[in-house]
Amino acid sequence: MAHDEIQIPFHRPSLTELERRAVLEVLDSGWITTGERTVEFEERIATGIGVRHAVAVNSATAALHLILEALRIKPGDEVIVPTYTFAACGEVVVYCGAYPRLVDIDRGTLSVSLDTIEPHVTRATKAIMVVHFGGRVAEMERILAFSRERGIAVIEDAAHALPASRDGRQAGSFGDAGAFSFYATKTVTTGEGGMIVTDREDIADRARVMRLHGISRDAWRRYSSSGSWYYEIEDAGFKYNMTDLAAAMGLAQWTRADAMRVLRERTALAYRELVHSYGLEDAVDLPPWPDRHQTDSWHLFPLRLRPEAIQAPRDEVIESLRAAGIGTSVHFIPLHHHPFYQRTYGYRTTDFPVATEEYGREISLPIYPDLSYDDAERVIRTLAAAVHKR
Ligand SMILES: *Cc1c(COP(=O)(O)O)cnc(C)c1O
Repeated sequence: MAHDEIQIPFHRPSLTELERRAVLEVLDSGWITTGERTVEFEERIATGIGVRHAVAVNSATAALHLILEALRIKPGDEVIVPTYTFAACGEVVVYCGAYPRLVDIDRGTLSVSLDTIEPHVTRATKAIMVVHFGGRVAEMERILAFSRERGIAVIEDAAHALPASRDGRQAGSFGDAGAFSFYATKTVTTGEGGMIVTDREDIADRARVMRLHGISRDAWRRYSSSGSWYYEIEDAGFKYNMTDLAAAMGLAQWTRADAMRVLRERTALAYRELVHSYGLEDAVDLPPWPDRHQTDSWHLFPLRLRPEAIQAPRDEVIESLRAAGIGTSVHFIPLHHHPFYQRTYGYRTTDFPVATEEYGREISLPIYPDLSYDDAERVIRTLAAAVHKR
């Protein structure tokens, strides 16, 4: 079906005059790559999240890779990775030559928990990667207590969780280091971009060097008036730096991040009410509502169908929504279902039953600041007609 027939897209970034002006200022400044805007963006994120260091890069994938590299993850090491996540989480472990030890998820939150992690910890486990699925902070306290005792590092994939908090602490500030994504569909976007946040100076220092060719700190300054032509290559680094064009957009987005979160929460509330008013409460499982200790980013609204209560299979429901001009998505196709992980590590589709079952019945509904109540109602009305309740 043609793209222009979708009337309610799965995602639409919220971009205003503020972002437009910020980007144009950079264009007019004569300095468009890593520079003062990037430094300012790092400072704002570090302050906002409550950590000592923030290191801007060009994706969350790069951020996760640099964190693992700074932790010196190497061949022979194992990193725990939820199977219910995006490609990035597993591939960065492979970049380091280490073993991606996949684990199942908690059925309620769709994130890992200590119960799903613990059986897979071995003597080779060097790090645990936690994904705050959908923007709900995972049960960090238990995971951190367990990992601290054993000297295992904890990495937060907070790609969905800007901003999100638990017990007054921001996602990204719990573990040894966290990664944010500014990809086009994420809650704060720069088109493409990412950020490492950490209290550990060793991780921040190493990441700053490795994000730009392994040359000495602030290498980008060599073209600025305060810079020098001289540099030394300390290691074989990467090309992961953020541009000032992206950072300017990010700074503008960041000033609006809380307001945008509230608008998404309003949509989540609307969906919850509408599911009841359309009599769908026995046909679907809603995402668990945050308690008073939690603030969710509501990056996703992951609905789960109850196959025993409806006649239409999930894929058919997605097709019906699409035919009615409504875009949806599925989060996630578990890593252990993909050919690479089966071929390389011998994972089988039957390995992680919770992830597999939830994947089979999940639909992510549209949720973003500019989605109106009328849009939300149309989504649920269409869903009610599509599921064919038994
Ligand atoms: C989007 C996403 C990433 C990757 O982010 P990029 O900035 O595109 O590299 C990583 N993990 C999760 C859970 C994501 O949703």
